[in-house]
Amino acid sequence: MPPRVLIIEDEHDLATVIAYNLRTDGLEVATAETGEAGLDLANKRRFDLIVLDLMLPDMSGLDVCRKLKGQASTKEIPILIASARGEEVDRVVGLELGADDYVVKPFSVRELVLRVRAILRRAESQPPASEVVTFGVLRIDRSAHRVFVEDQEVQLTALEFRLLATLHERRNRTQARDTLLLDVWQMNTPVESRTVDTHVKRLREKLGAAASYIRTVRGVGYRFASTPDEPSAD
Ligand code: CA
Repeated sequence: MPPRVLIIEDEHDLATVIAYNLRTDGLEVATAETGEAGLDLANKRRFDLIVLDLMLPDMSGLDVCRKLKGQASTKEIPILIASARGEEVDRVVGLELGADDYVVKPFSVRELVLRVRAILRRAESQPPASEVVTFGVLRIDRSAHRVFVEDQEVQLTALEFRLLATLHERRNRTQARDTLLLDVWQMNTPVESRTVDTHVKRLREKLGAAASYIRTVRGVGYRFASTPDEPSAD
């Protein structure tokens, strides 16, 4: 699966040129022209990198950066700041807020593509900063293989843990039953895909208040939703 980049940039022509070049380089690209639209997209879909303009029409890029770095579901996404000359102070603040790199406008698109590639390579070779992830009432400790809901430990079987961890790792992306059988059960041979349904049902029962993170995608499989309040298809 190609890395996915989100461009938050209100200069439409510039966003188009960047998107075109990143796509030519084999990346998947989405664009947003306001800070709010960018945050909305980042919350709904998984991205591997965000190119962030600092001067946006509705809010400062710094506020967008602060919000992205302040929530568990987006804080690990590398951010590349694009700023105009004379915005040095903002650039420094951006880096302090956790942005990974910056380019100064006007930049050559080639330079931007190279920086994007460099950040993606670095991110790929680094293990996630924390093995403990928290989503609302749900806490998953990946190294200790322990799960907590509202600070109460939930006893999961090894298989249930693997199922939850896999769905969580690929959050916001629908996982087909066959994919789950292959990756969680490590079964190459076709078995009853109802097996997945049975285990998801049991996992949901154990998760109680956190059960709604696991959504059913009708006719396909399951998806871990990182926003608990979005309307469920169930
Ligand atoms: Ca701008």
